Amino acid sequence: MNIHEHQAKELLKEFKIPVPKGNVIFSLNEIDKKIKNLNTNNLVVKAQIHAGGRGKAGGIKLVKNKDDLLKETSAMFGKTLVTHQTGKKGKKVKRIYIEEACNVKKEFYLACLIDRTSSKVAFISSTEGGMDIEKVAKDNPEKIVTTKFNLADKILNDDLNKITNIFNLNKKQKEQANKIINSIFNLFITKDANLVEINPLVITETDDLLCLDAKINFDDNAIFRHPEISKLRDLDEEDPIEIEASKHNLSYIKLDGSIGCMVNGAGLAMATLDIIKMYGKEPANFLDVGGGASKEKVAAAFKIILSDKSVKGILVNIFGGILRCDELAKGLIEAAKETKMNVPLVVRLSGTNFEEGNKILKNSNLKILSASDLDDAAKKIVKAVG
Ligand code: GDP
Ligand code: MN
Repeated sequence: MNIHEHQAKELLKEFKIPVPKGNVIFSLNEIDKKIKNLNTNNLVVKAQIHAGGRGKAGGIKLVKNKDDLLKETSAMFGKTLVTHQTGKKGKKVKRIYIEEACNVKKEFYLACLIDRTSSKVAFISSTEGGMDIEKVAKDNPEKIVTTKFNLADKILNDDLNKITNIFNLNKKQKEQANKIINSIFNLFITKDANLVEINPLVITETDDLLCLDAKINFDDNAIFRHPEISKLRDLDEEDPIEIEASKHNLSYIKLDGSIGCMVNGAGLAMATLDIIKMYGKEPANFLDVGGGASKEKVAAAFKIILSDKSVKGILVNIFGGILRCDELAKGLIEAAKETKMNVPLVVRLSGTNFEEGNKILKNSNLKILSASDLDDAAKKIVKAVG
């Protein structure tokens, strides 16, 4: 789960990590109230969307007085920002963060994340702050330092030094950096985060370190342990179909192709996507209905697939274990009738009660192509979609 920059900064503050003073507004008439404690001669106006690259897209503006503040915020509210992280559709600005600006001497990149390959926590540090870090990784990999250690460990001095070495800090800044890194690690562990990214971490004109931008992502599987975090969820920033899927406990991820997929088991789902690609088409989604899916859950999954207008055909690939194929067949028929399904549907059933399942589908008078195995199923749906 992602949160907004202003929420991430509140969390940083809680963990005693230095951030500029600021307030969030949801509409223009909140401005007067929300700038009382700020220096209005030097502010930065920041569009709050769940995407980076706002600076280049016009989502970050420096203002020097109240008139300009009003001008920039009125122009920004309701504007659709397209950045390299939003996709072509962009994201509409519904909240704005007004923050005291600072004069920046240097910009760094600092992030804490999980390195899955080594099963360790990693800090990434770079002198190329404020930039797109993926681009730095590609063009100037020598400017990125990765420091890994075990989840259970305290950060050792050697590791702190390794993280900050490239920053070339004086003694005071080095102490500040150590505190910031330890606090970020503490936040990361305490809140079950996947990523805490500060880009940029800056040196101000008073030679202090300050976090100018913050992005935090949390582990969805641990959110139940943090009701205070789950409150921060902003559904406006999420794909409506994915929200619907999460209500039914379905693992659903939208993809760009035309073949909708319904599968039980993540591994089987991956194999299904691969074989569709192998026969020359692109899947429209990843969807795992899980092991013990009920008839209702199957019906909900089917409706979710069909609500995606780019779906031109559906492949259902089920291995009946706990989920029985006859139950699944009933759910499918119900959903197909209710949604007046008008795209080709190929179903491959295997495992518990598959013969009964196939019989139910055959007797339903719906146009359903049944397949004997996964290979056959993939060929049939690719052909049917054309
Ligand atoms: P992003 O483009 O979505 O990553 O948004 P950021 O919050 O990182 O802002 C983009 C850039 O605006 C930063 O890298 C800074 O260079 C600049 N910026 C943001 N806040 C300030 C500020 O208070 N003072 C100055 N001088 N620049 C700022
Ligand atoms: Mn940034």
